[in-house]
Amino acid sequence: MSKGLNNSRSDFPILDQKVNGEPLVYLDNAATTQKPVSVLNSLVHYYEHDNANVHRGVHTLAERATEEFEAARDKVAAFINAPSRKSVIYTRSTTESLNWIASSFGNSVVNEGDEIVISELEHHSNVVPWQQVAKKQHATLKYIGLTADGELDMADAKKQITDRTKIVSIAHASNVMGVLNPIKELTQLAHQHGAYMIADGAQSTPHLKVNVQDLDVDFYAFSGHKMLAPTGIGILYGKPEDLDQMEPAQFGGEMINEVHEHAADWKESPWKYEAGTPNISGAIALGSAVDYLTQLGMDNIQAYEQELVDYTLPKLLQIDGITVYGPHDPAKHTGVLSFNLNGLHPHDVATGLDMDGIAVRAGHHCAQPLMEYLSCEATCRASFYFYNTKEEADRLLDGLNEVKEFFANGIGKAERTI
Ligand code: PMP
Repeated sequence: MSKGLNNSRSDFPILDQKVNGEPLVYLDNAATTQKPVSVLNSLVHYYEHDNANVHRGVHTLAERATEEFEAARDKVAAFINAPSRKSVIYTRSTTESLNWIASSFGNSVVNEGDEIVISELEHHSNVVPWQQVAKKQHATLKYIGLTADGELDMADAKKQITDRTKIVSIAHASNVMGVLNPIKELTQLAHQHGAYMIADGAQSTPHLKVNVQDLDVDFYAFSGHKMLAPTGIGILYGKPEDLDQMEPAQFGGEMINEVHEHAADWKESPWKYEAGTPNISGAIALGSAVDYLTQLGMDNIQAYEQELVDYTLPKLLQIDGITVYGPHDPAKHTGVLSFNLNGLHPHDVATGLDMDGIAVRAGHHCAQPLMEYLSCEATCRASFYFYNTKEEADRLLDGLNEVKEFFANGIGKAERTI
């Protein structure tokens, strides 16, 4: 059996286990990724040797913790080619990053009669915050439609983005349709109309080389847990001039310069956004995840995942009665594969696969407007990372045929209750 990109599989002890008597095939990476030993060790090392609160103390441990916390920020800045650490804000997640942009920056730049433009394939965390801004500011929320094969319709984007648009906020990669969106082109379009451009990088940052300066986006959001780091740590990147303009979304300790009884002023970015004790160990572990990904090489990761898609997608399409969402050309498809089997509920399919030790997701994937747009309630989703293998893709394909057979005839290897 192959061992993932550069034999990376052995770095992930969790993958080496049986589920329901079968070797685990973990294909739920779009929901969260597994963690390599080096990331786990960085957490343990921090708590065993350096645990202290950051930025406050003068004692040695506090200084060490602060140094590691800020060094991790520098690693993230280099990873996405941010101009400096001042552009990199620690948050809890993509959801928190997008909420902060919407509630603080969004509410200050969007006024009555203005427009906010998102797309039909957004995750709820890039929909609901903008619904709130639109409601509060009496602005209009507009949606860019999709082409017949599920890509963002750029002709429609040119219609929806107008001189009234103040914010354009689009996912860099879809968590359902398996497409990459042309963020650089959209940014140019937004800027031509005087609008700010925000990209949701939750599904792109773990899988390809992101260069925020080349994309020229105003803000970029992503989550550590989808790129090998623990849950509870995320990033909000902002252009320095936008961050100077944006007010903090939370207030309290650590983010202030001076506080008097009736007034306070803030530190400079990024610290003015980080009120209270941050997720110090999570940030340090994110730095370690960035080291791991950098060592593997983001271009190598993207190329390897493309190989998995080139191998799997044509075979998936050959399964009788399957509907695969998004482009059918593997070259246009990322490692997120959403599908339905005719007549079967996706939860039954996912439960059947789990009986074979195969972990996939079933549901609306926090993209209900997209489900409505596609006129389907839910889908099954298998999503790859660099530690997956072609053998595992075969297990998925075999598993799907078995689930079909089981529901058609109640027979097969599946002598089981679902
Ligand atoms: N945007 C996209 C495209 C996502 O796939 C996800 C996670 N499924 C999110 C945002 C939200 O990420 P988190 O739950 O880590 O905040």
